[in-house]
Amino acid sequence: MVARHRRMMPPMEYIRLSDEAAGLDGVIAIHSTARGPAAGGCRLWTYDDPGAAMTDAFRLAEGMSYKNAMAGLPFGGGKAVLRRPPGAFDRRALFEAFGRAVEKLDGRYVTAEDVGTGVSDMECVARHTRHVAGRTALPGLAGGDPSPWTALGVFEAMKAAVEFRYSSGLAGLRVAVSGVGNVGAGLARLAHGAGARLVVADIDPLRCARLAEELGAEVVGIEAIAGVEAEVFAPCALGGALDEATVLALQARVVCGAANNQLASPDMADLLVERGIAYAPDYVVNAGGIINVAAEYLGESEGEVKGRVMEIGPRTRTILDAAGRDGLPPPVVADRMAEELMQRPEPALA
Ligand code: NAD
Repeated sequence: MVARHRRMMPPMEYIRLSDEAAGLDGVIAIHSTARGPAAGGCRLWTYDDPGAAMTDAFRLAEGMSYKNAMAGLPFGGGKAVLRRPPGAFDRRALFEAFGRAVEKLDGRYVTAEDVGTGVSDMECVARHTRHVAGRTALPGLAGGDPSPWTALGVFEAMKAAVEFRYSSGLAGLRVAVSGVGNVGAGLARLAHGAGARLVVADIDPLRCARLAEELGAEVVGIEAIAGVEAEVFAPCALGGALDEATVLALQARVVCGAANNQLASPDMADLLVERGIAYAPDYVVNAGGIINVAAEYLGESEGEVKGRVMEIGPRTRTILDAAGRDGLPPPVVADRMAEELMQRPEPALA
């Protein structure tokens, strides 16, 4: 069986962005506003042509609809994709022009950082619109670096998946983390605190060395990490980590990590099931960051962010249980749940 999920819906709306003087060339894609304003970050990347940027924006906006709905947020899905101007360019002018474009949508799209953009860019955007998050955090309120929240959500999901597969806690188990950047290192620390033994890999040897010293983590090469003897594999580097060779090499019976788009192709979900591996779907477990961004936009507190991030564990367990009961891969179950939530006009904030 090849698991199929995701009804490809065309985005409801897209807006071409163009301001030659400011170097702005891109698109805002709005996939869904059924649950609220379309929320999703702004990516600045090199694209050969406008069509490639648009395709990426549609795909990413769709992904945000699923992630936001699954996280119970009162937001739909959207994304901005900007083509990086060749050579040197005036960053401030570019993001101010982008801010003016966001403002024209009058709150139907809410932006934040993504690959290639940062807090200072969002501060430029904020000069022209209030429909932006990912800015400097104010005391007591949500905001700032989303990575610790993403790490906490993945950790809660990992505990739920381990309980599902091994009927145990993390203590004494081996957790293999591929990519120990902002989220991966935070996750490693949390797992260590729960008594797990760590094996880590990264293309940056310094990051591994730091965790070896701090947590007593074993360091292996990036090509070896998926195949090490471990109970849990956590992909926390780039997307597409779960290709056929990697899935066949896995010793772990739980896969739960922060990276987006972990399945190299949809049929990898079936291969994971065939191998008896409990795969916690990426967008379910890595929603802590967008939960923080959403709360910042809504002016909510850190306590509210924490409450919502702590729901990721039970949600992961519900999905794994349903997948086991219905004989379906967990990503298929997750997509169906998210699609149902997307139909609900009333957001289900818990
Ligand atoms: P990061 O850039 O801080 O860390 C990524 C790490 O992966 C780096 O240390 C890098 O050296 C390493 N790496 C790159 N290629 C590698 C490879 N082939 N093998 C092993 N390591 C490799 O990024 P991050 O913020 O920690 O995000 C990690 C992943 O989680 C990304 O896929 C990101 O899209 C996803 N994610 C992050 C957040 C967040 O809040 N930061 C939220 C949701 C999803």
